[in-house]
Amino acid sequence: MKFVKDSVTSLSEYFVLQDFSVVKLNQNESPFDVPAELKDKILKKLAEMNWNRYCENRPLALIRAIAEYTQFPESGIVAANASNEIIQAVFSTFCRQDDKIVVVTPGFSVYPRLAHLHEMTLVPVPLGVNFEFDVSQIIWAAAEAKMVILSSPNNPTGTTLPIEAVIQIAKGINGVFVLDEAYVDFHKISAQEYIHKFENLVIIRTFSKAFSLAGLRLGYVLAQPHIAKQLEKAKLPFSVGIFQQIAGEMLMKNHAAINKNVEIIISEREKLFAALTKFDQVHPIKSAANFIIFKIDGRSAQLAFELFYQNGILLRYFNEKQLSPFLRVTIGKPDENNKFLTVLKKILSK
Ligand code: PMP
Repeated sequence: MKFVKDSVTSLSEYFVLQDFSVVKLNQNESPFDVPAELKDKILKKLAEMNWNRYCENRPLALIRAIAEYTQFPESGIVAANASNEIIQAVFSTFCRQDDKIVVVTPGFSVYPRLAHLHEMTLVPVPLGVNFEFDVSQIIWAAAEAKMVILSSPNNPTGTTLPIEAVIQIAKGINGVFVLDEAYVDFHKISAQEYIHKFENLVIIRTFSKAFSLAGLRLGYVLAQPHIAKQLEKAKLPFSVGIFQQIAGEMLMKNHAAINKNVEIIISEREKLFAALTKFDQVHPIKSAANFIIFKIDGRSAQLAFELFYQNGILLRYFNEKQLSPFLRVTIGKPDENNKFLTVLKKILSK
């Protein structure tokens, strides 16, 4: 073990409970699989390819389809092995040991993990009482920072950073501003049109949520072309295989089916939020993503988590102090959400 860096030995293992035999509402995946006819088309195309040859390192057809869908210039797009690889690439591109990095808490846990691995100094900025972003604190904390990285809508709270605040941060800091838009399709407000104004604004997107491809691993970056070029160099060569390339291109070109699913998820989110507010003991936080956090008066979240799990519903609970009373439920299909509500009623009646 003496060979292993302290920054690695001191990390806890990345662990998320995965149980596919229950109603799985714990990882913010889409509850809808890729439609069967698209799967068939993807598999047919895949069968026609040469698997013995390396894939394109910069997958042009996929990038063109993303450019068409996002209406963003091709030269500013980098495709990667889902957003986790992009997050790793932004750290490799912009950050050195001991550099300061600003995150918000509670936020997505991978950012502090990578900051720790890169032996950086983490500057956490707490969200407000209703988990709103404190923009002036973020800018103040970022005075000497190399990077600010946060997600909007934020995982795990579902709260958002208004576009004016994105502009204020991009303008107000000296470092890079990495805005993770993993859940943007459920919010429908993106900051991408400001990239051409701010060289330091880098946006991350994923196919793992609205686009139903969590198992395939595909994501992309939007940035100014000269920044995208550097990010491309920092990511691993050939990390987007032919399966991801074909599936990603097919979904971009056939996004109507995805849009339909997104509309169902948004409408289910609103229904679920309204249903949660009807229980006196339950307090949900308004969310712009495909999940909702809520707390139950007088109940330990961990105990409630166990009760849900025993009743066939897998949710997420958190160890951080500010979140410890909360559980997070991913929006499922209508029947899954109804089952969740039935179990909640049962737990509350005990
Ligand atoms: N960013 C955010 C905000 C997330 O919540 C997640 C998934 N939990 C990711 C990135 C990583 O997603 P993926 O690597 O599947 O694209």
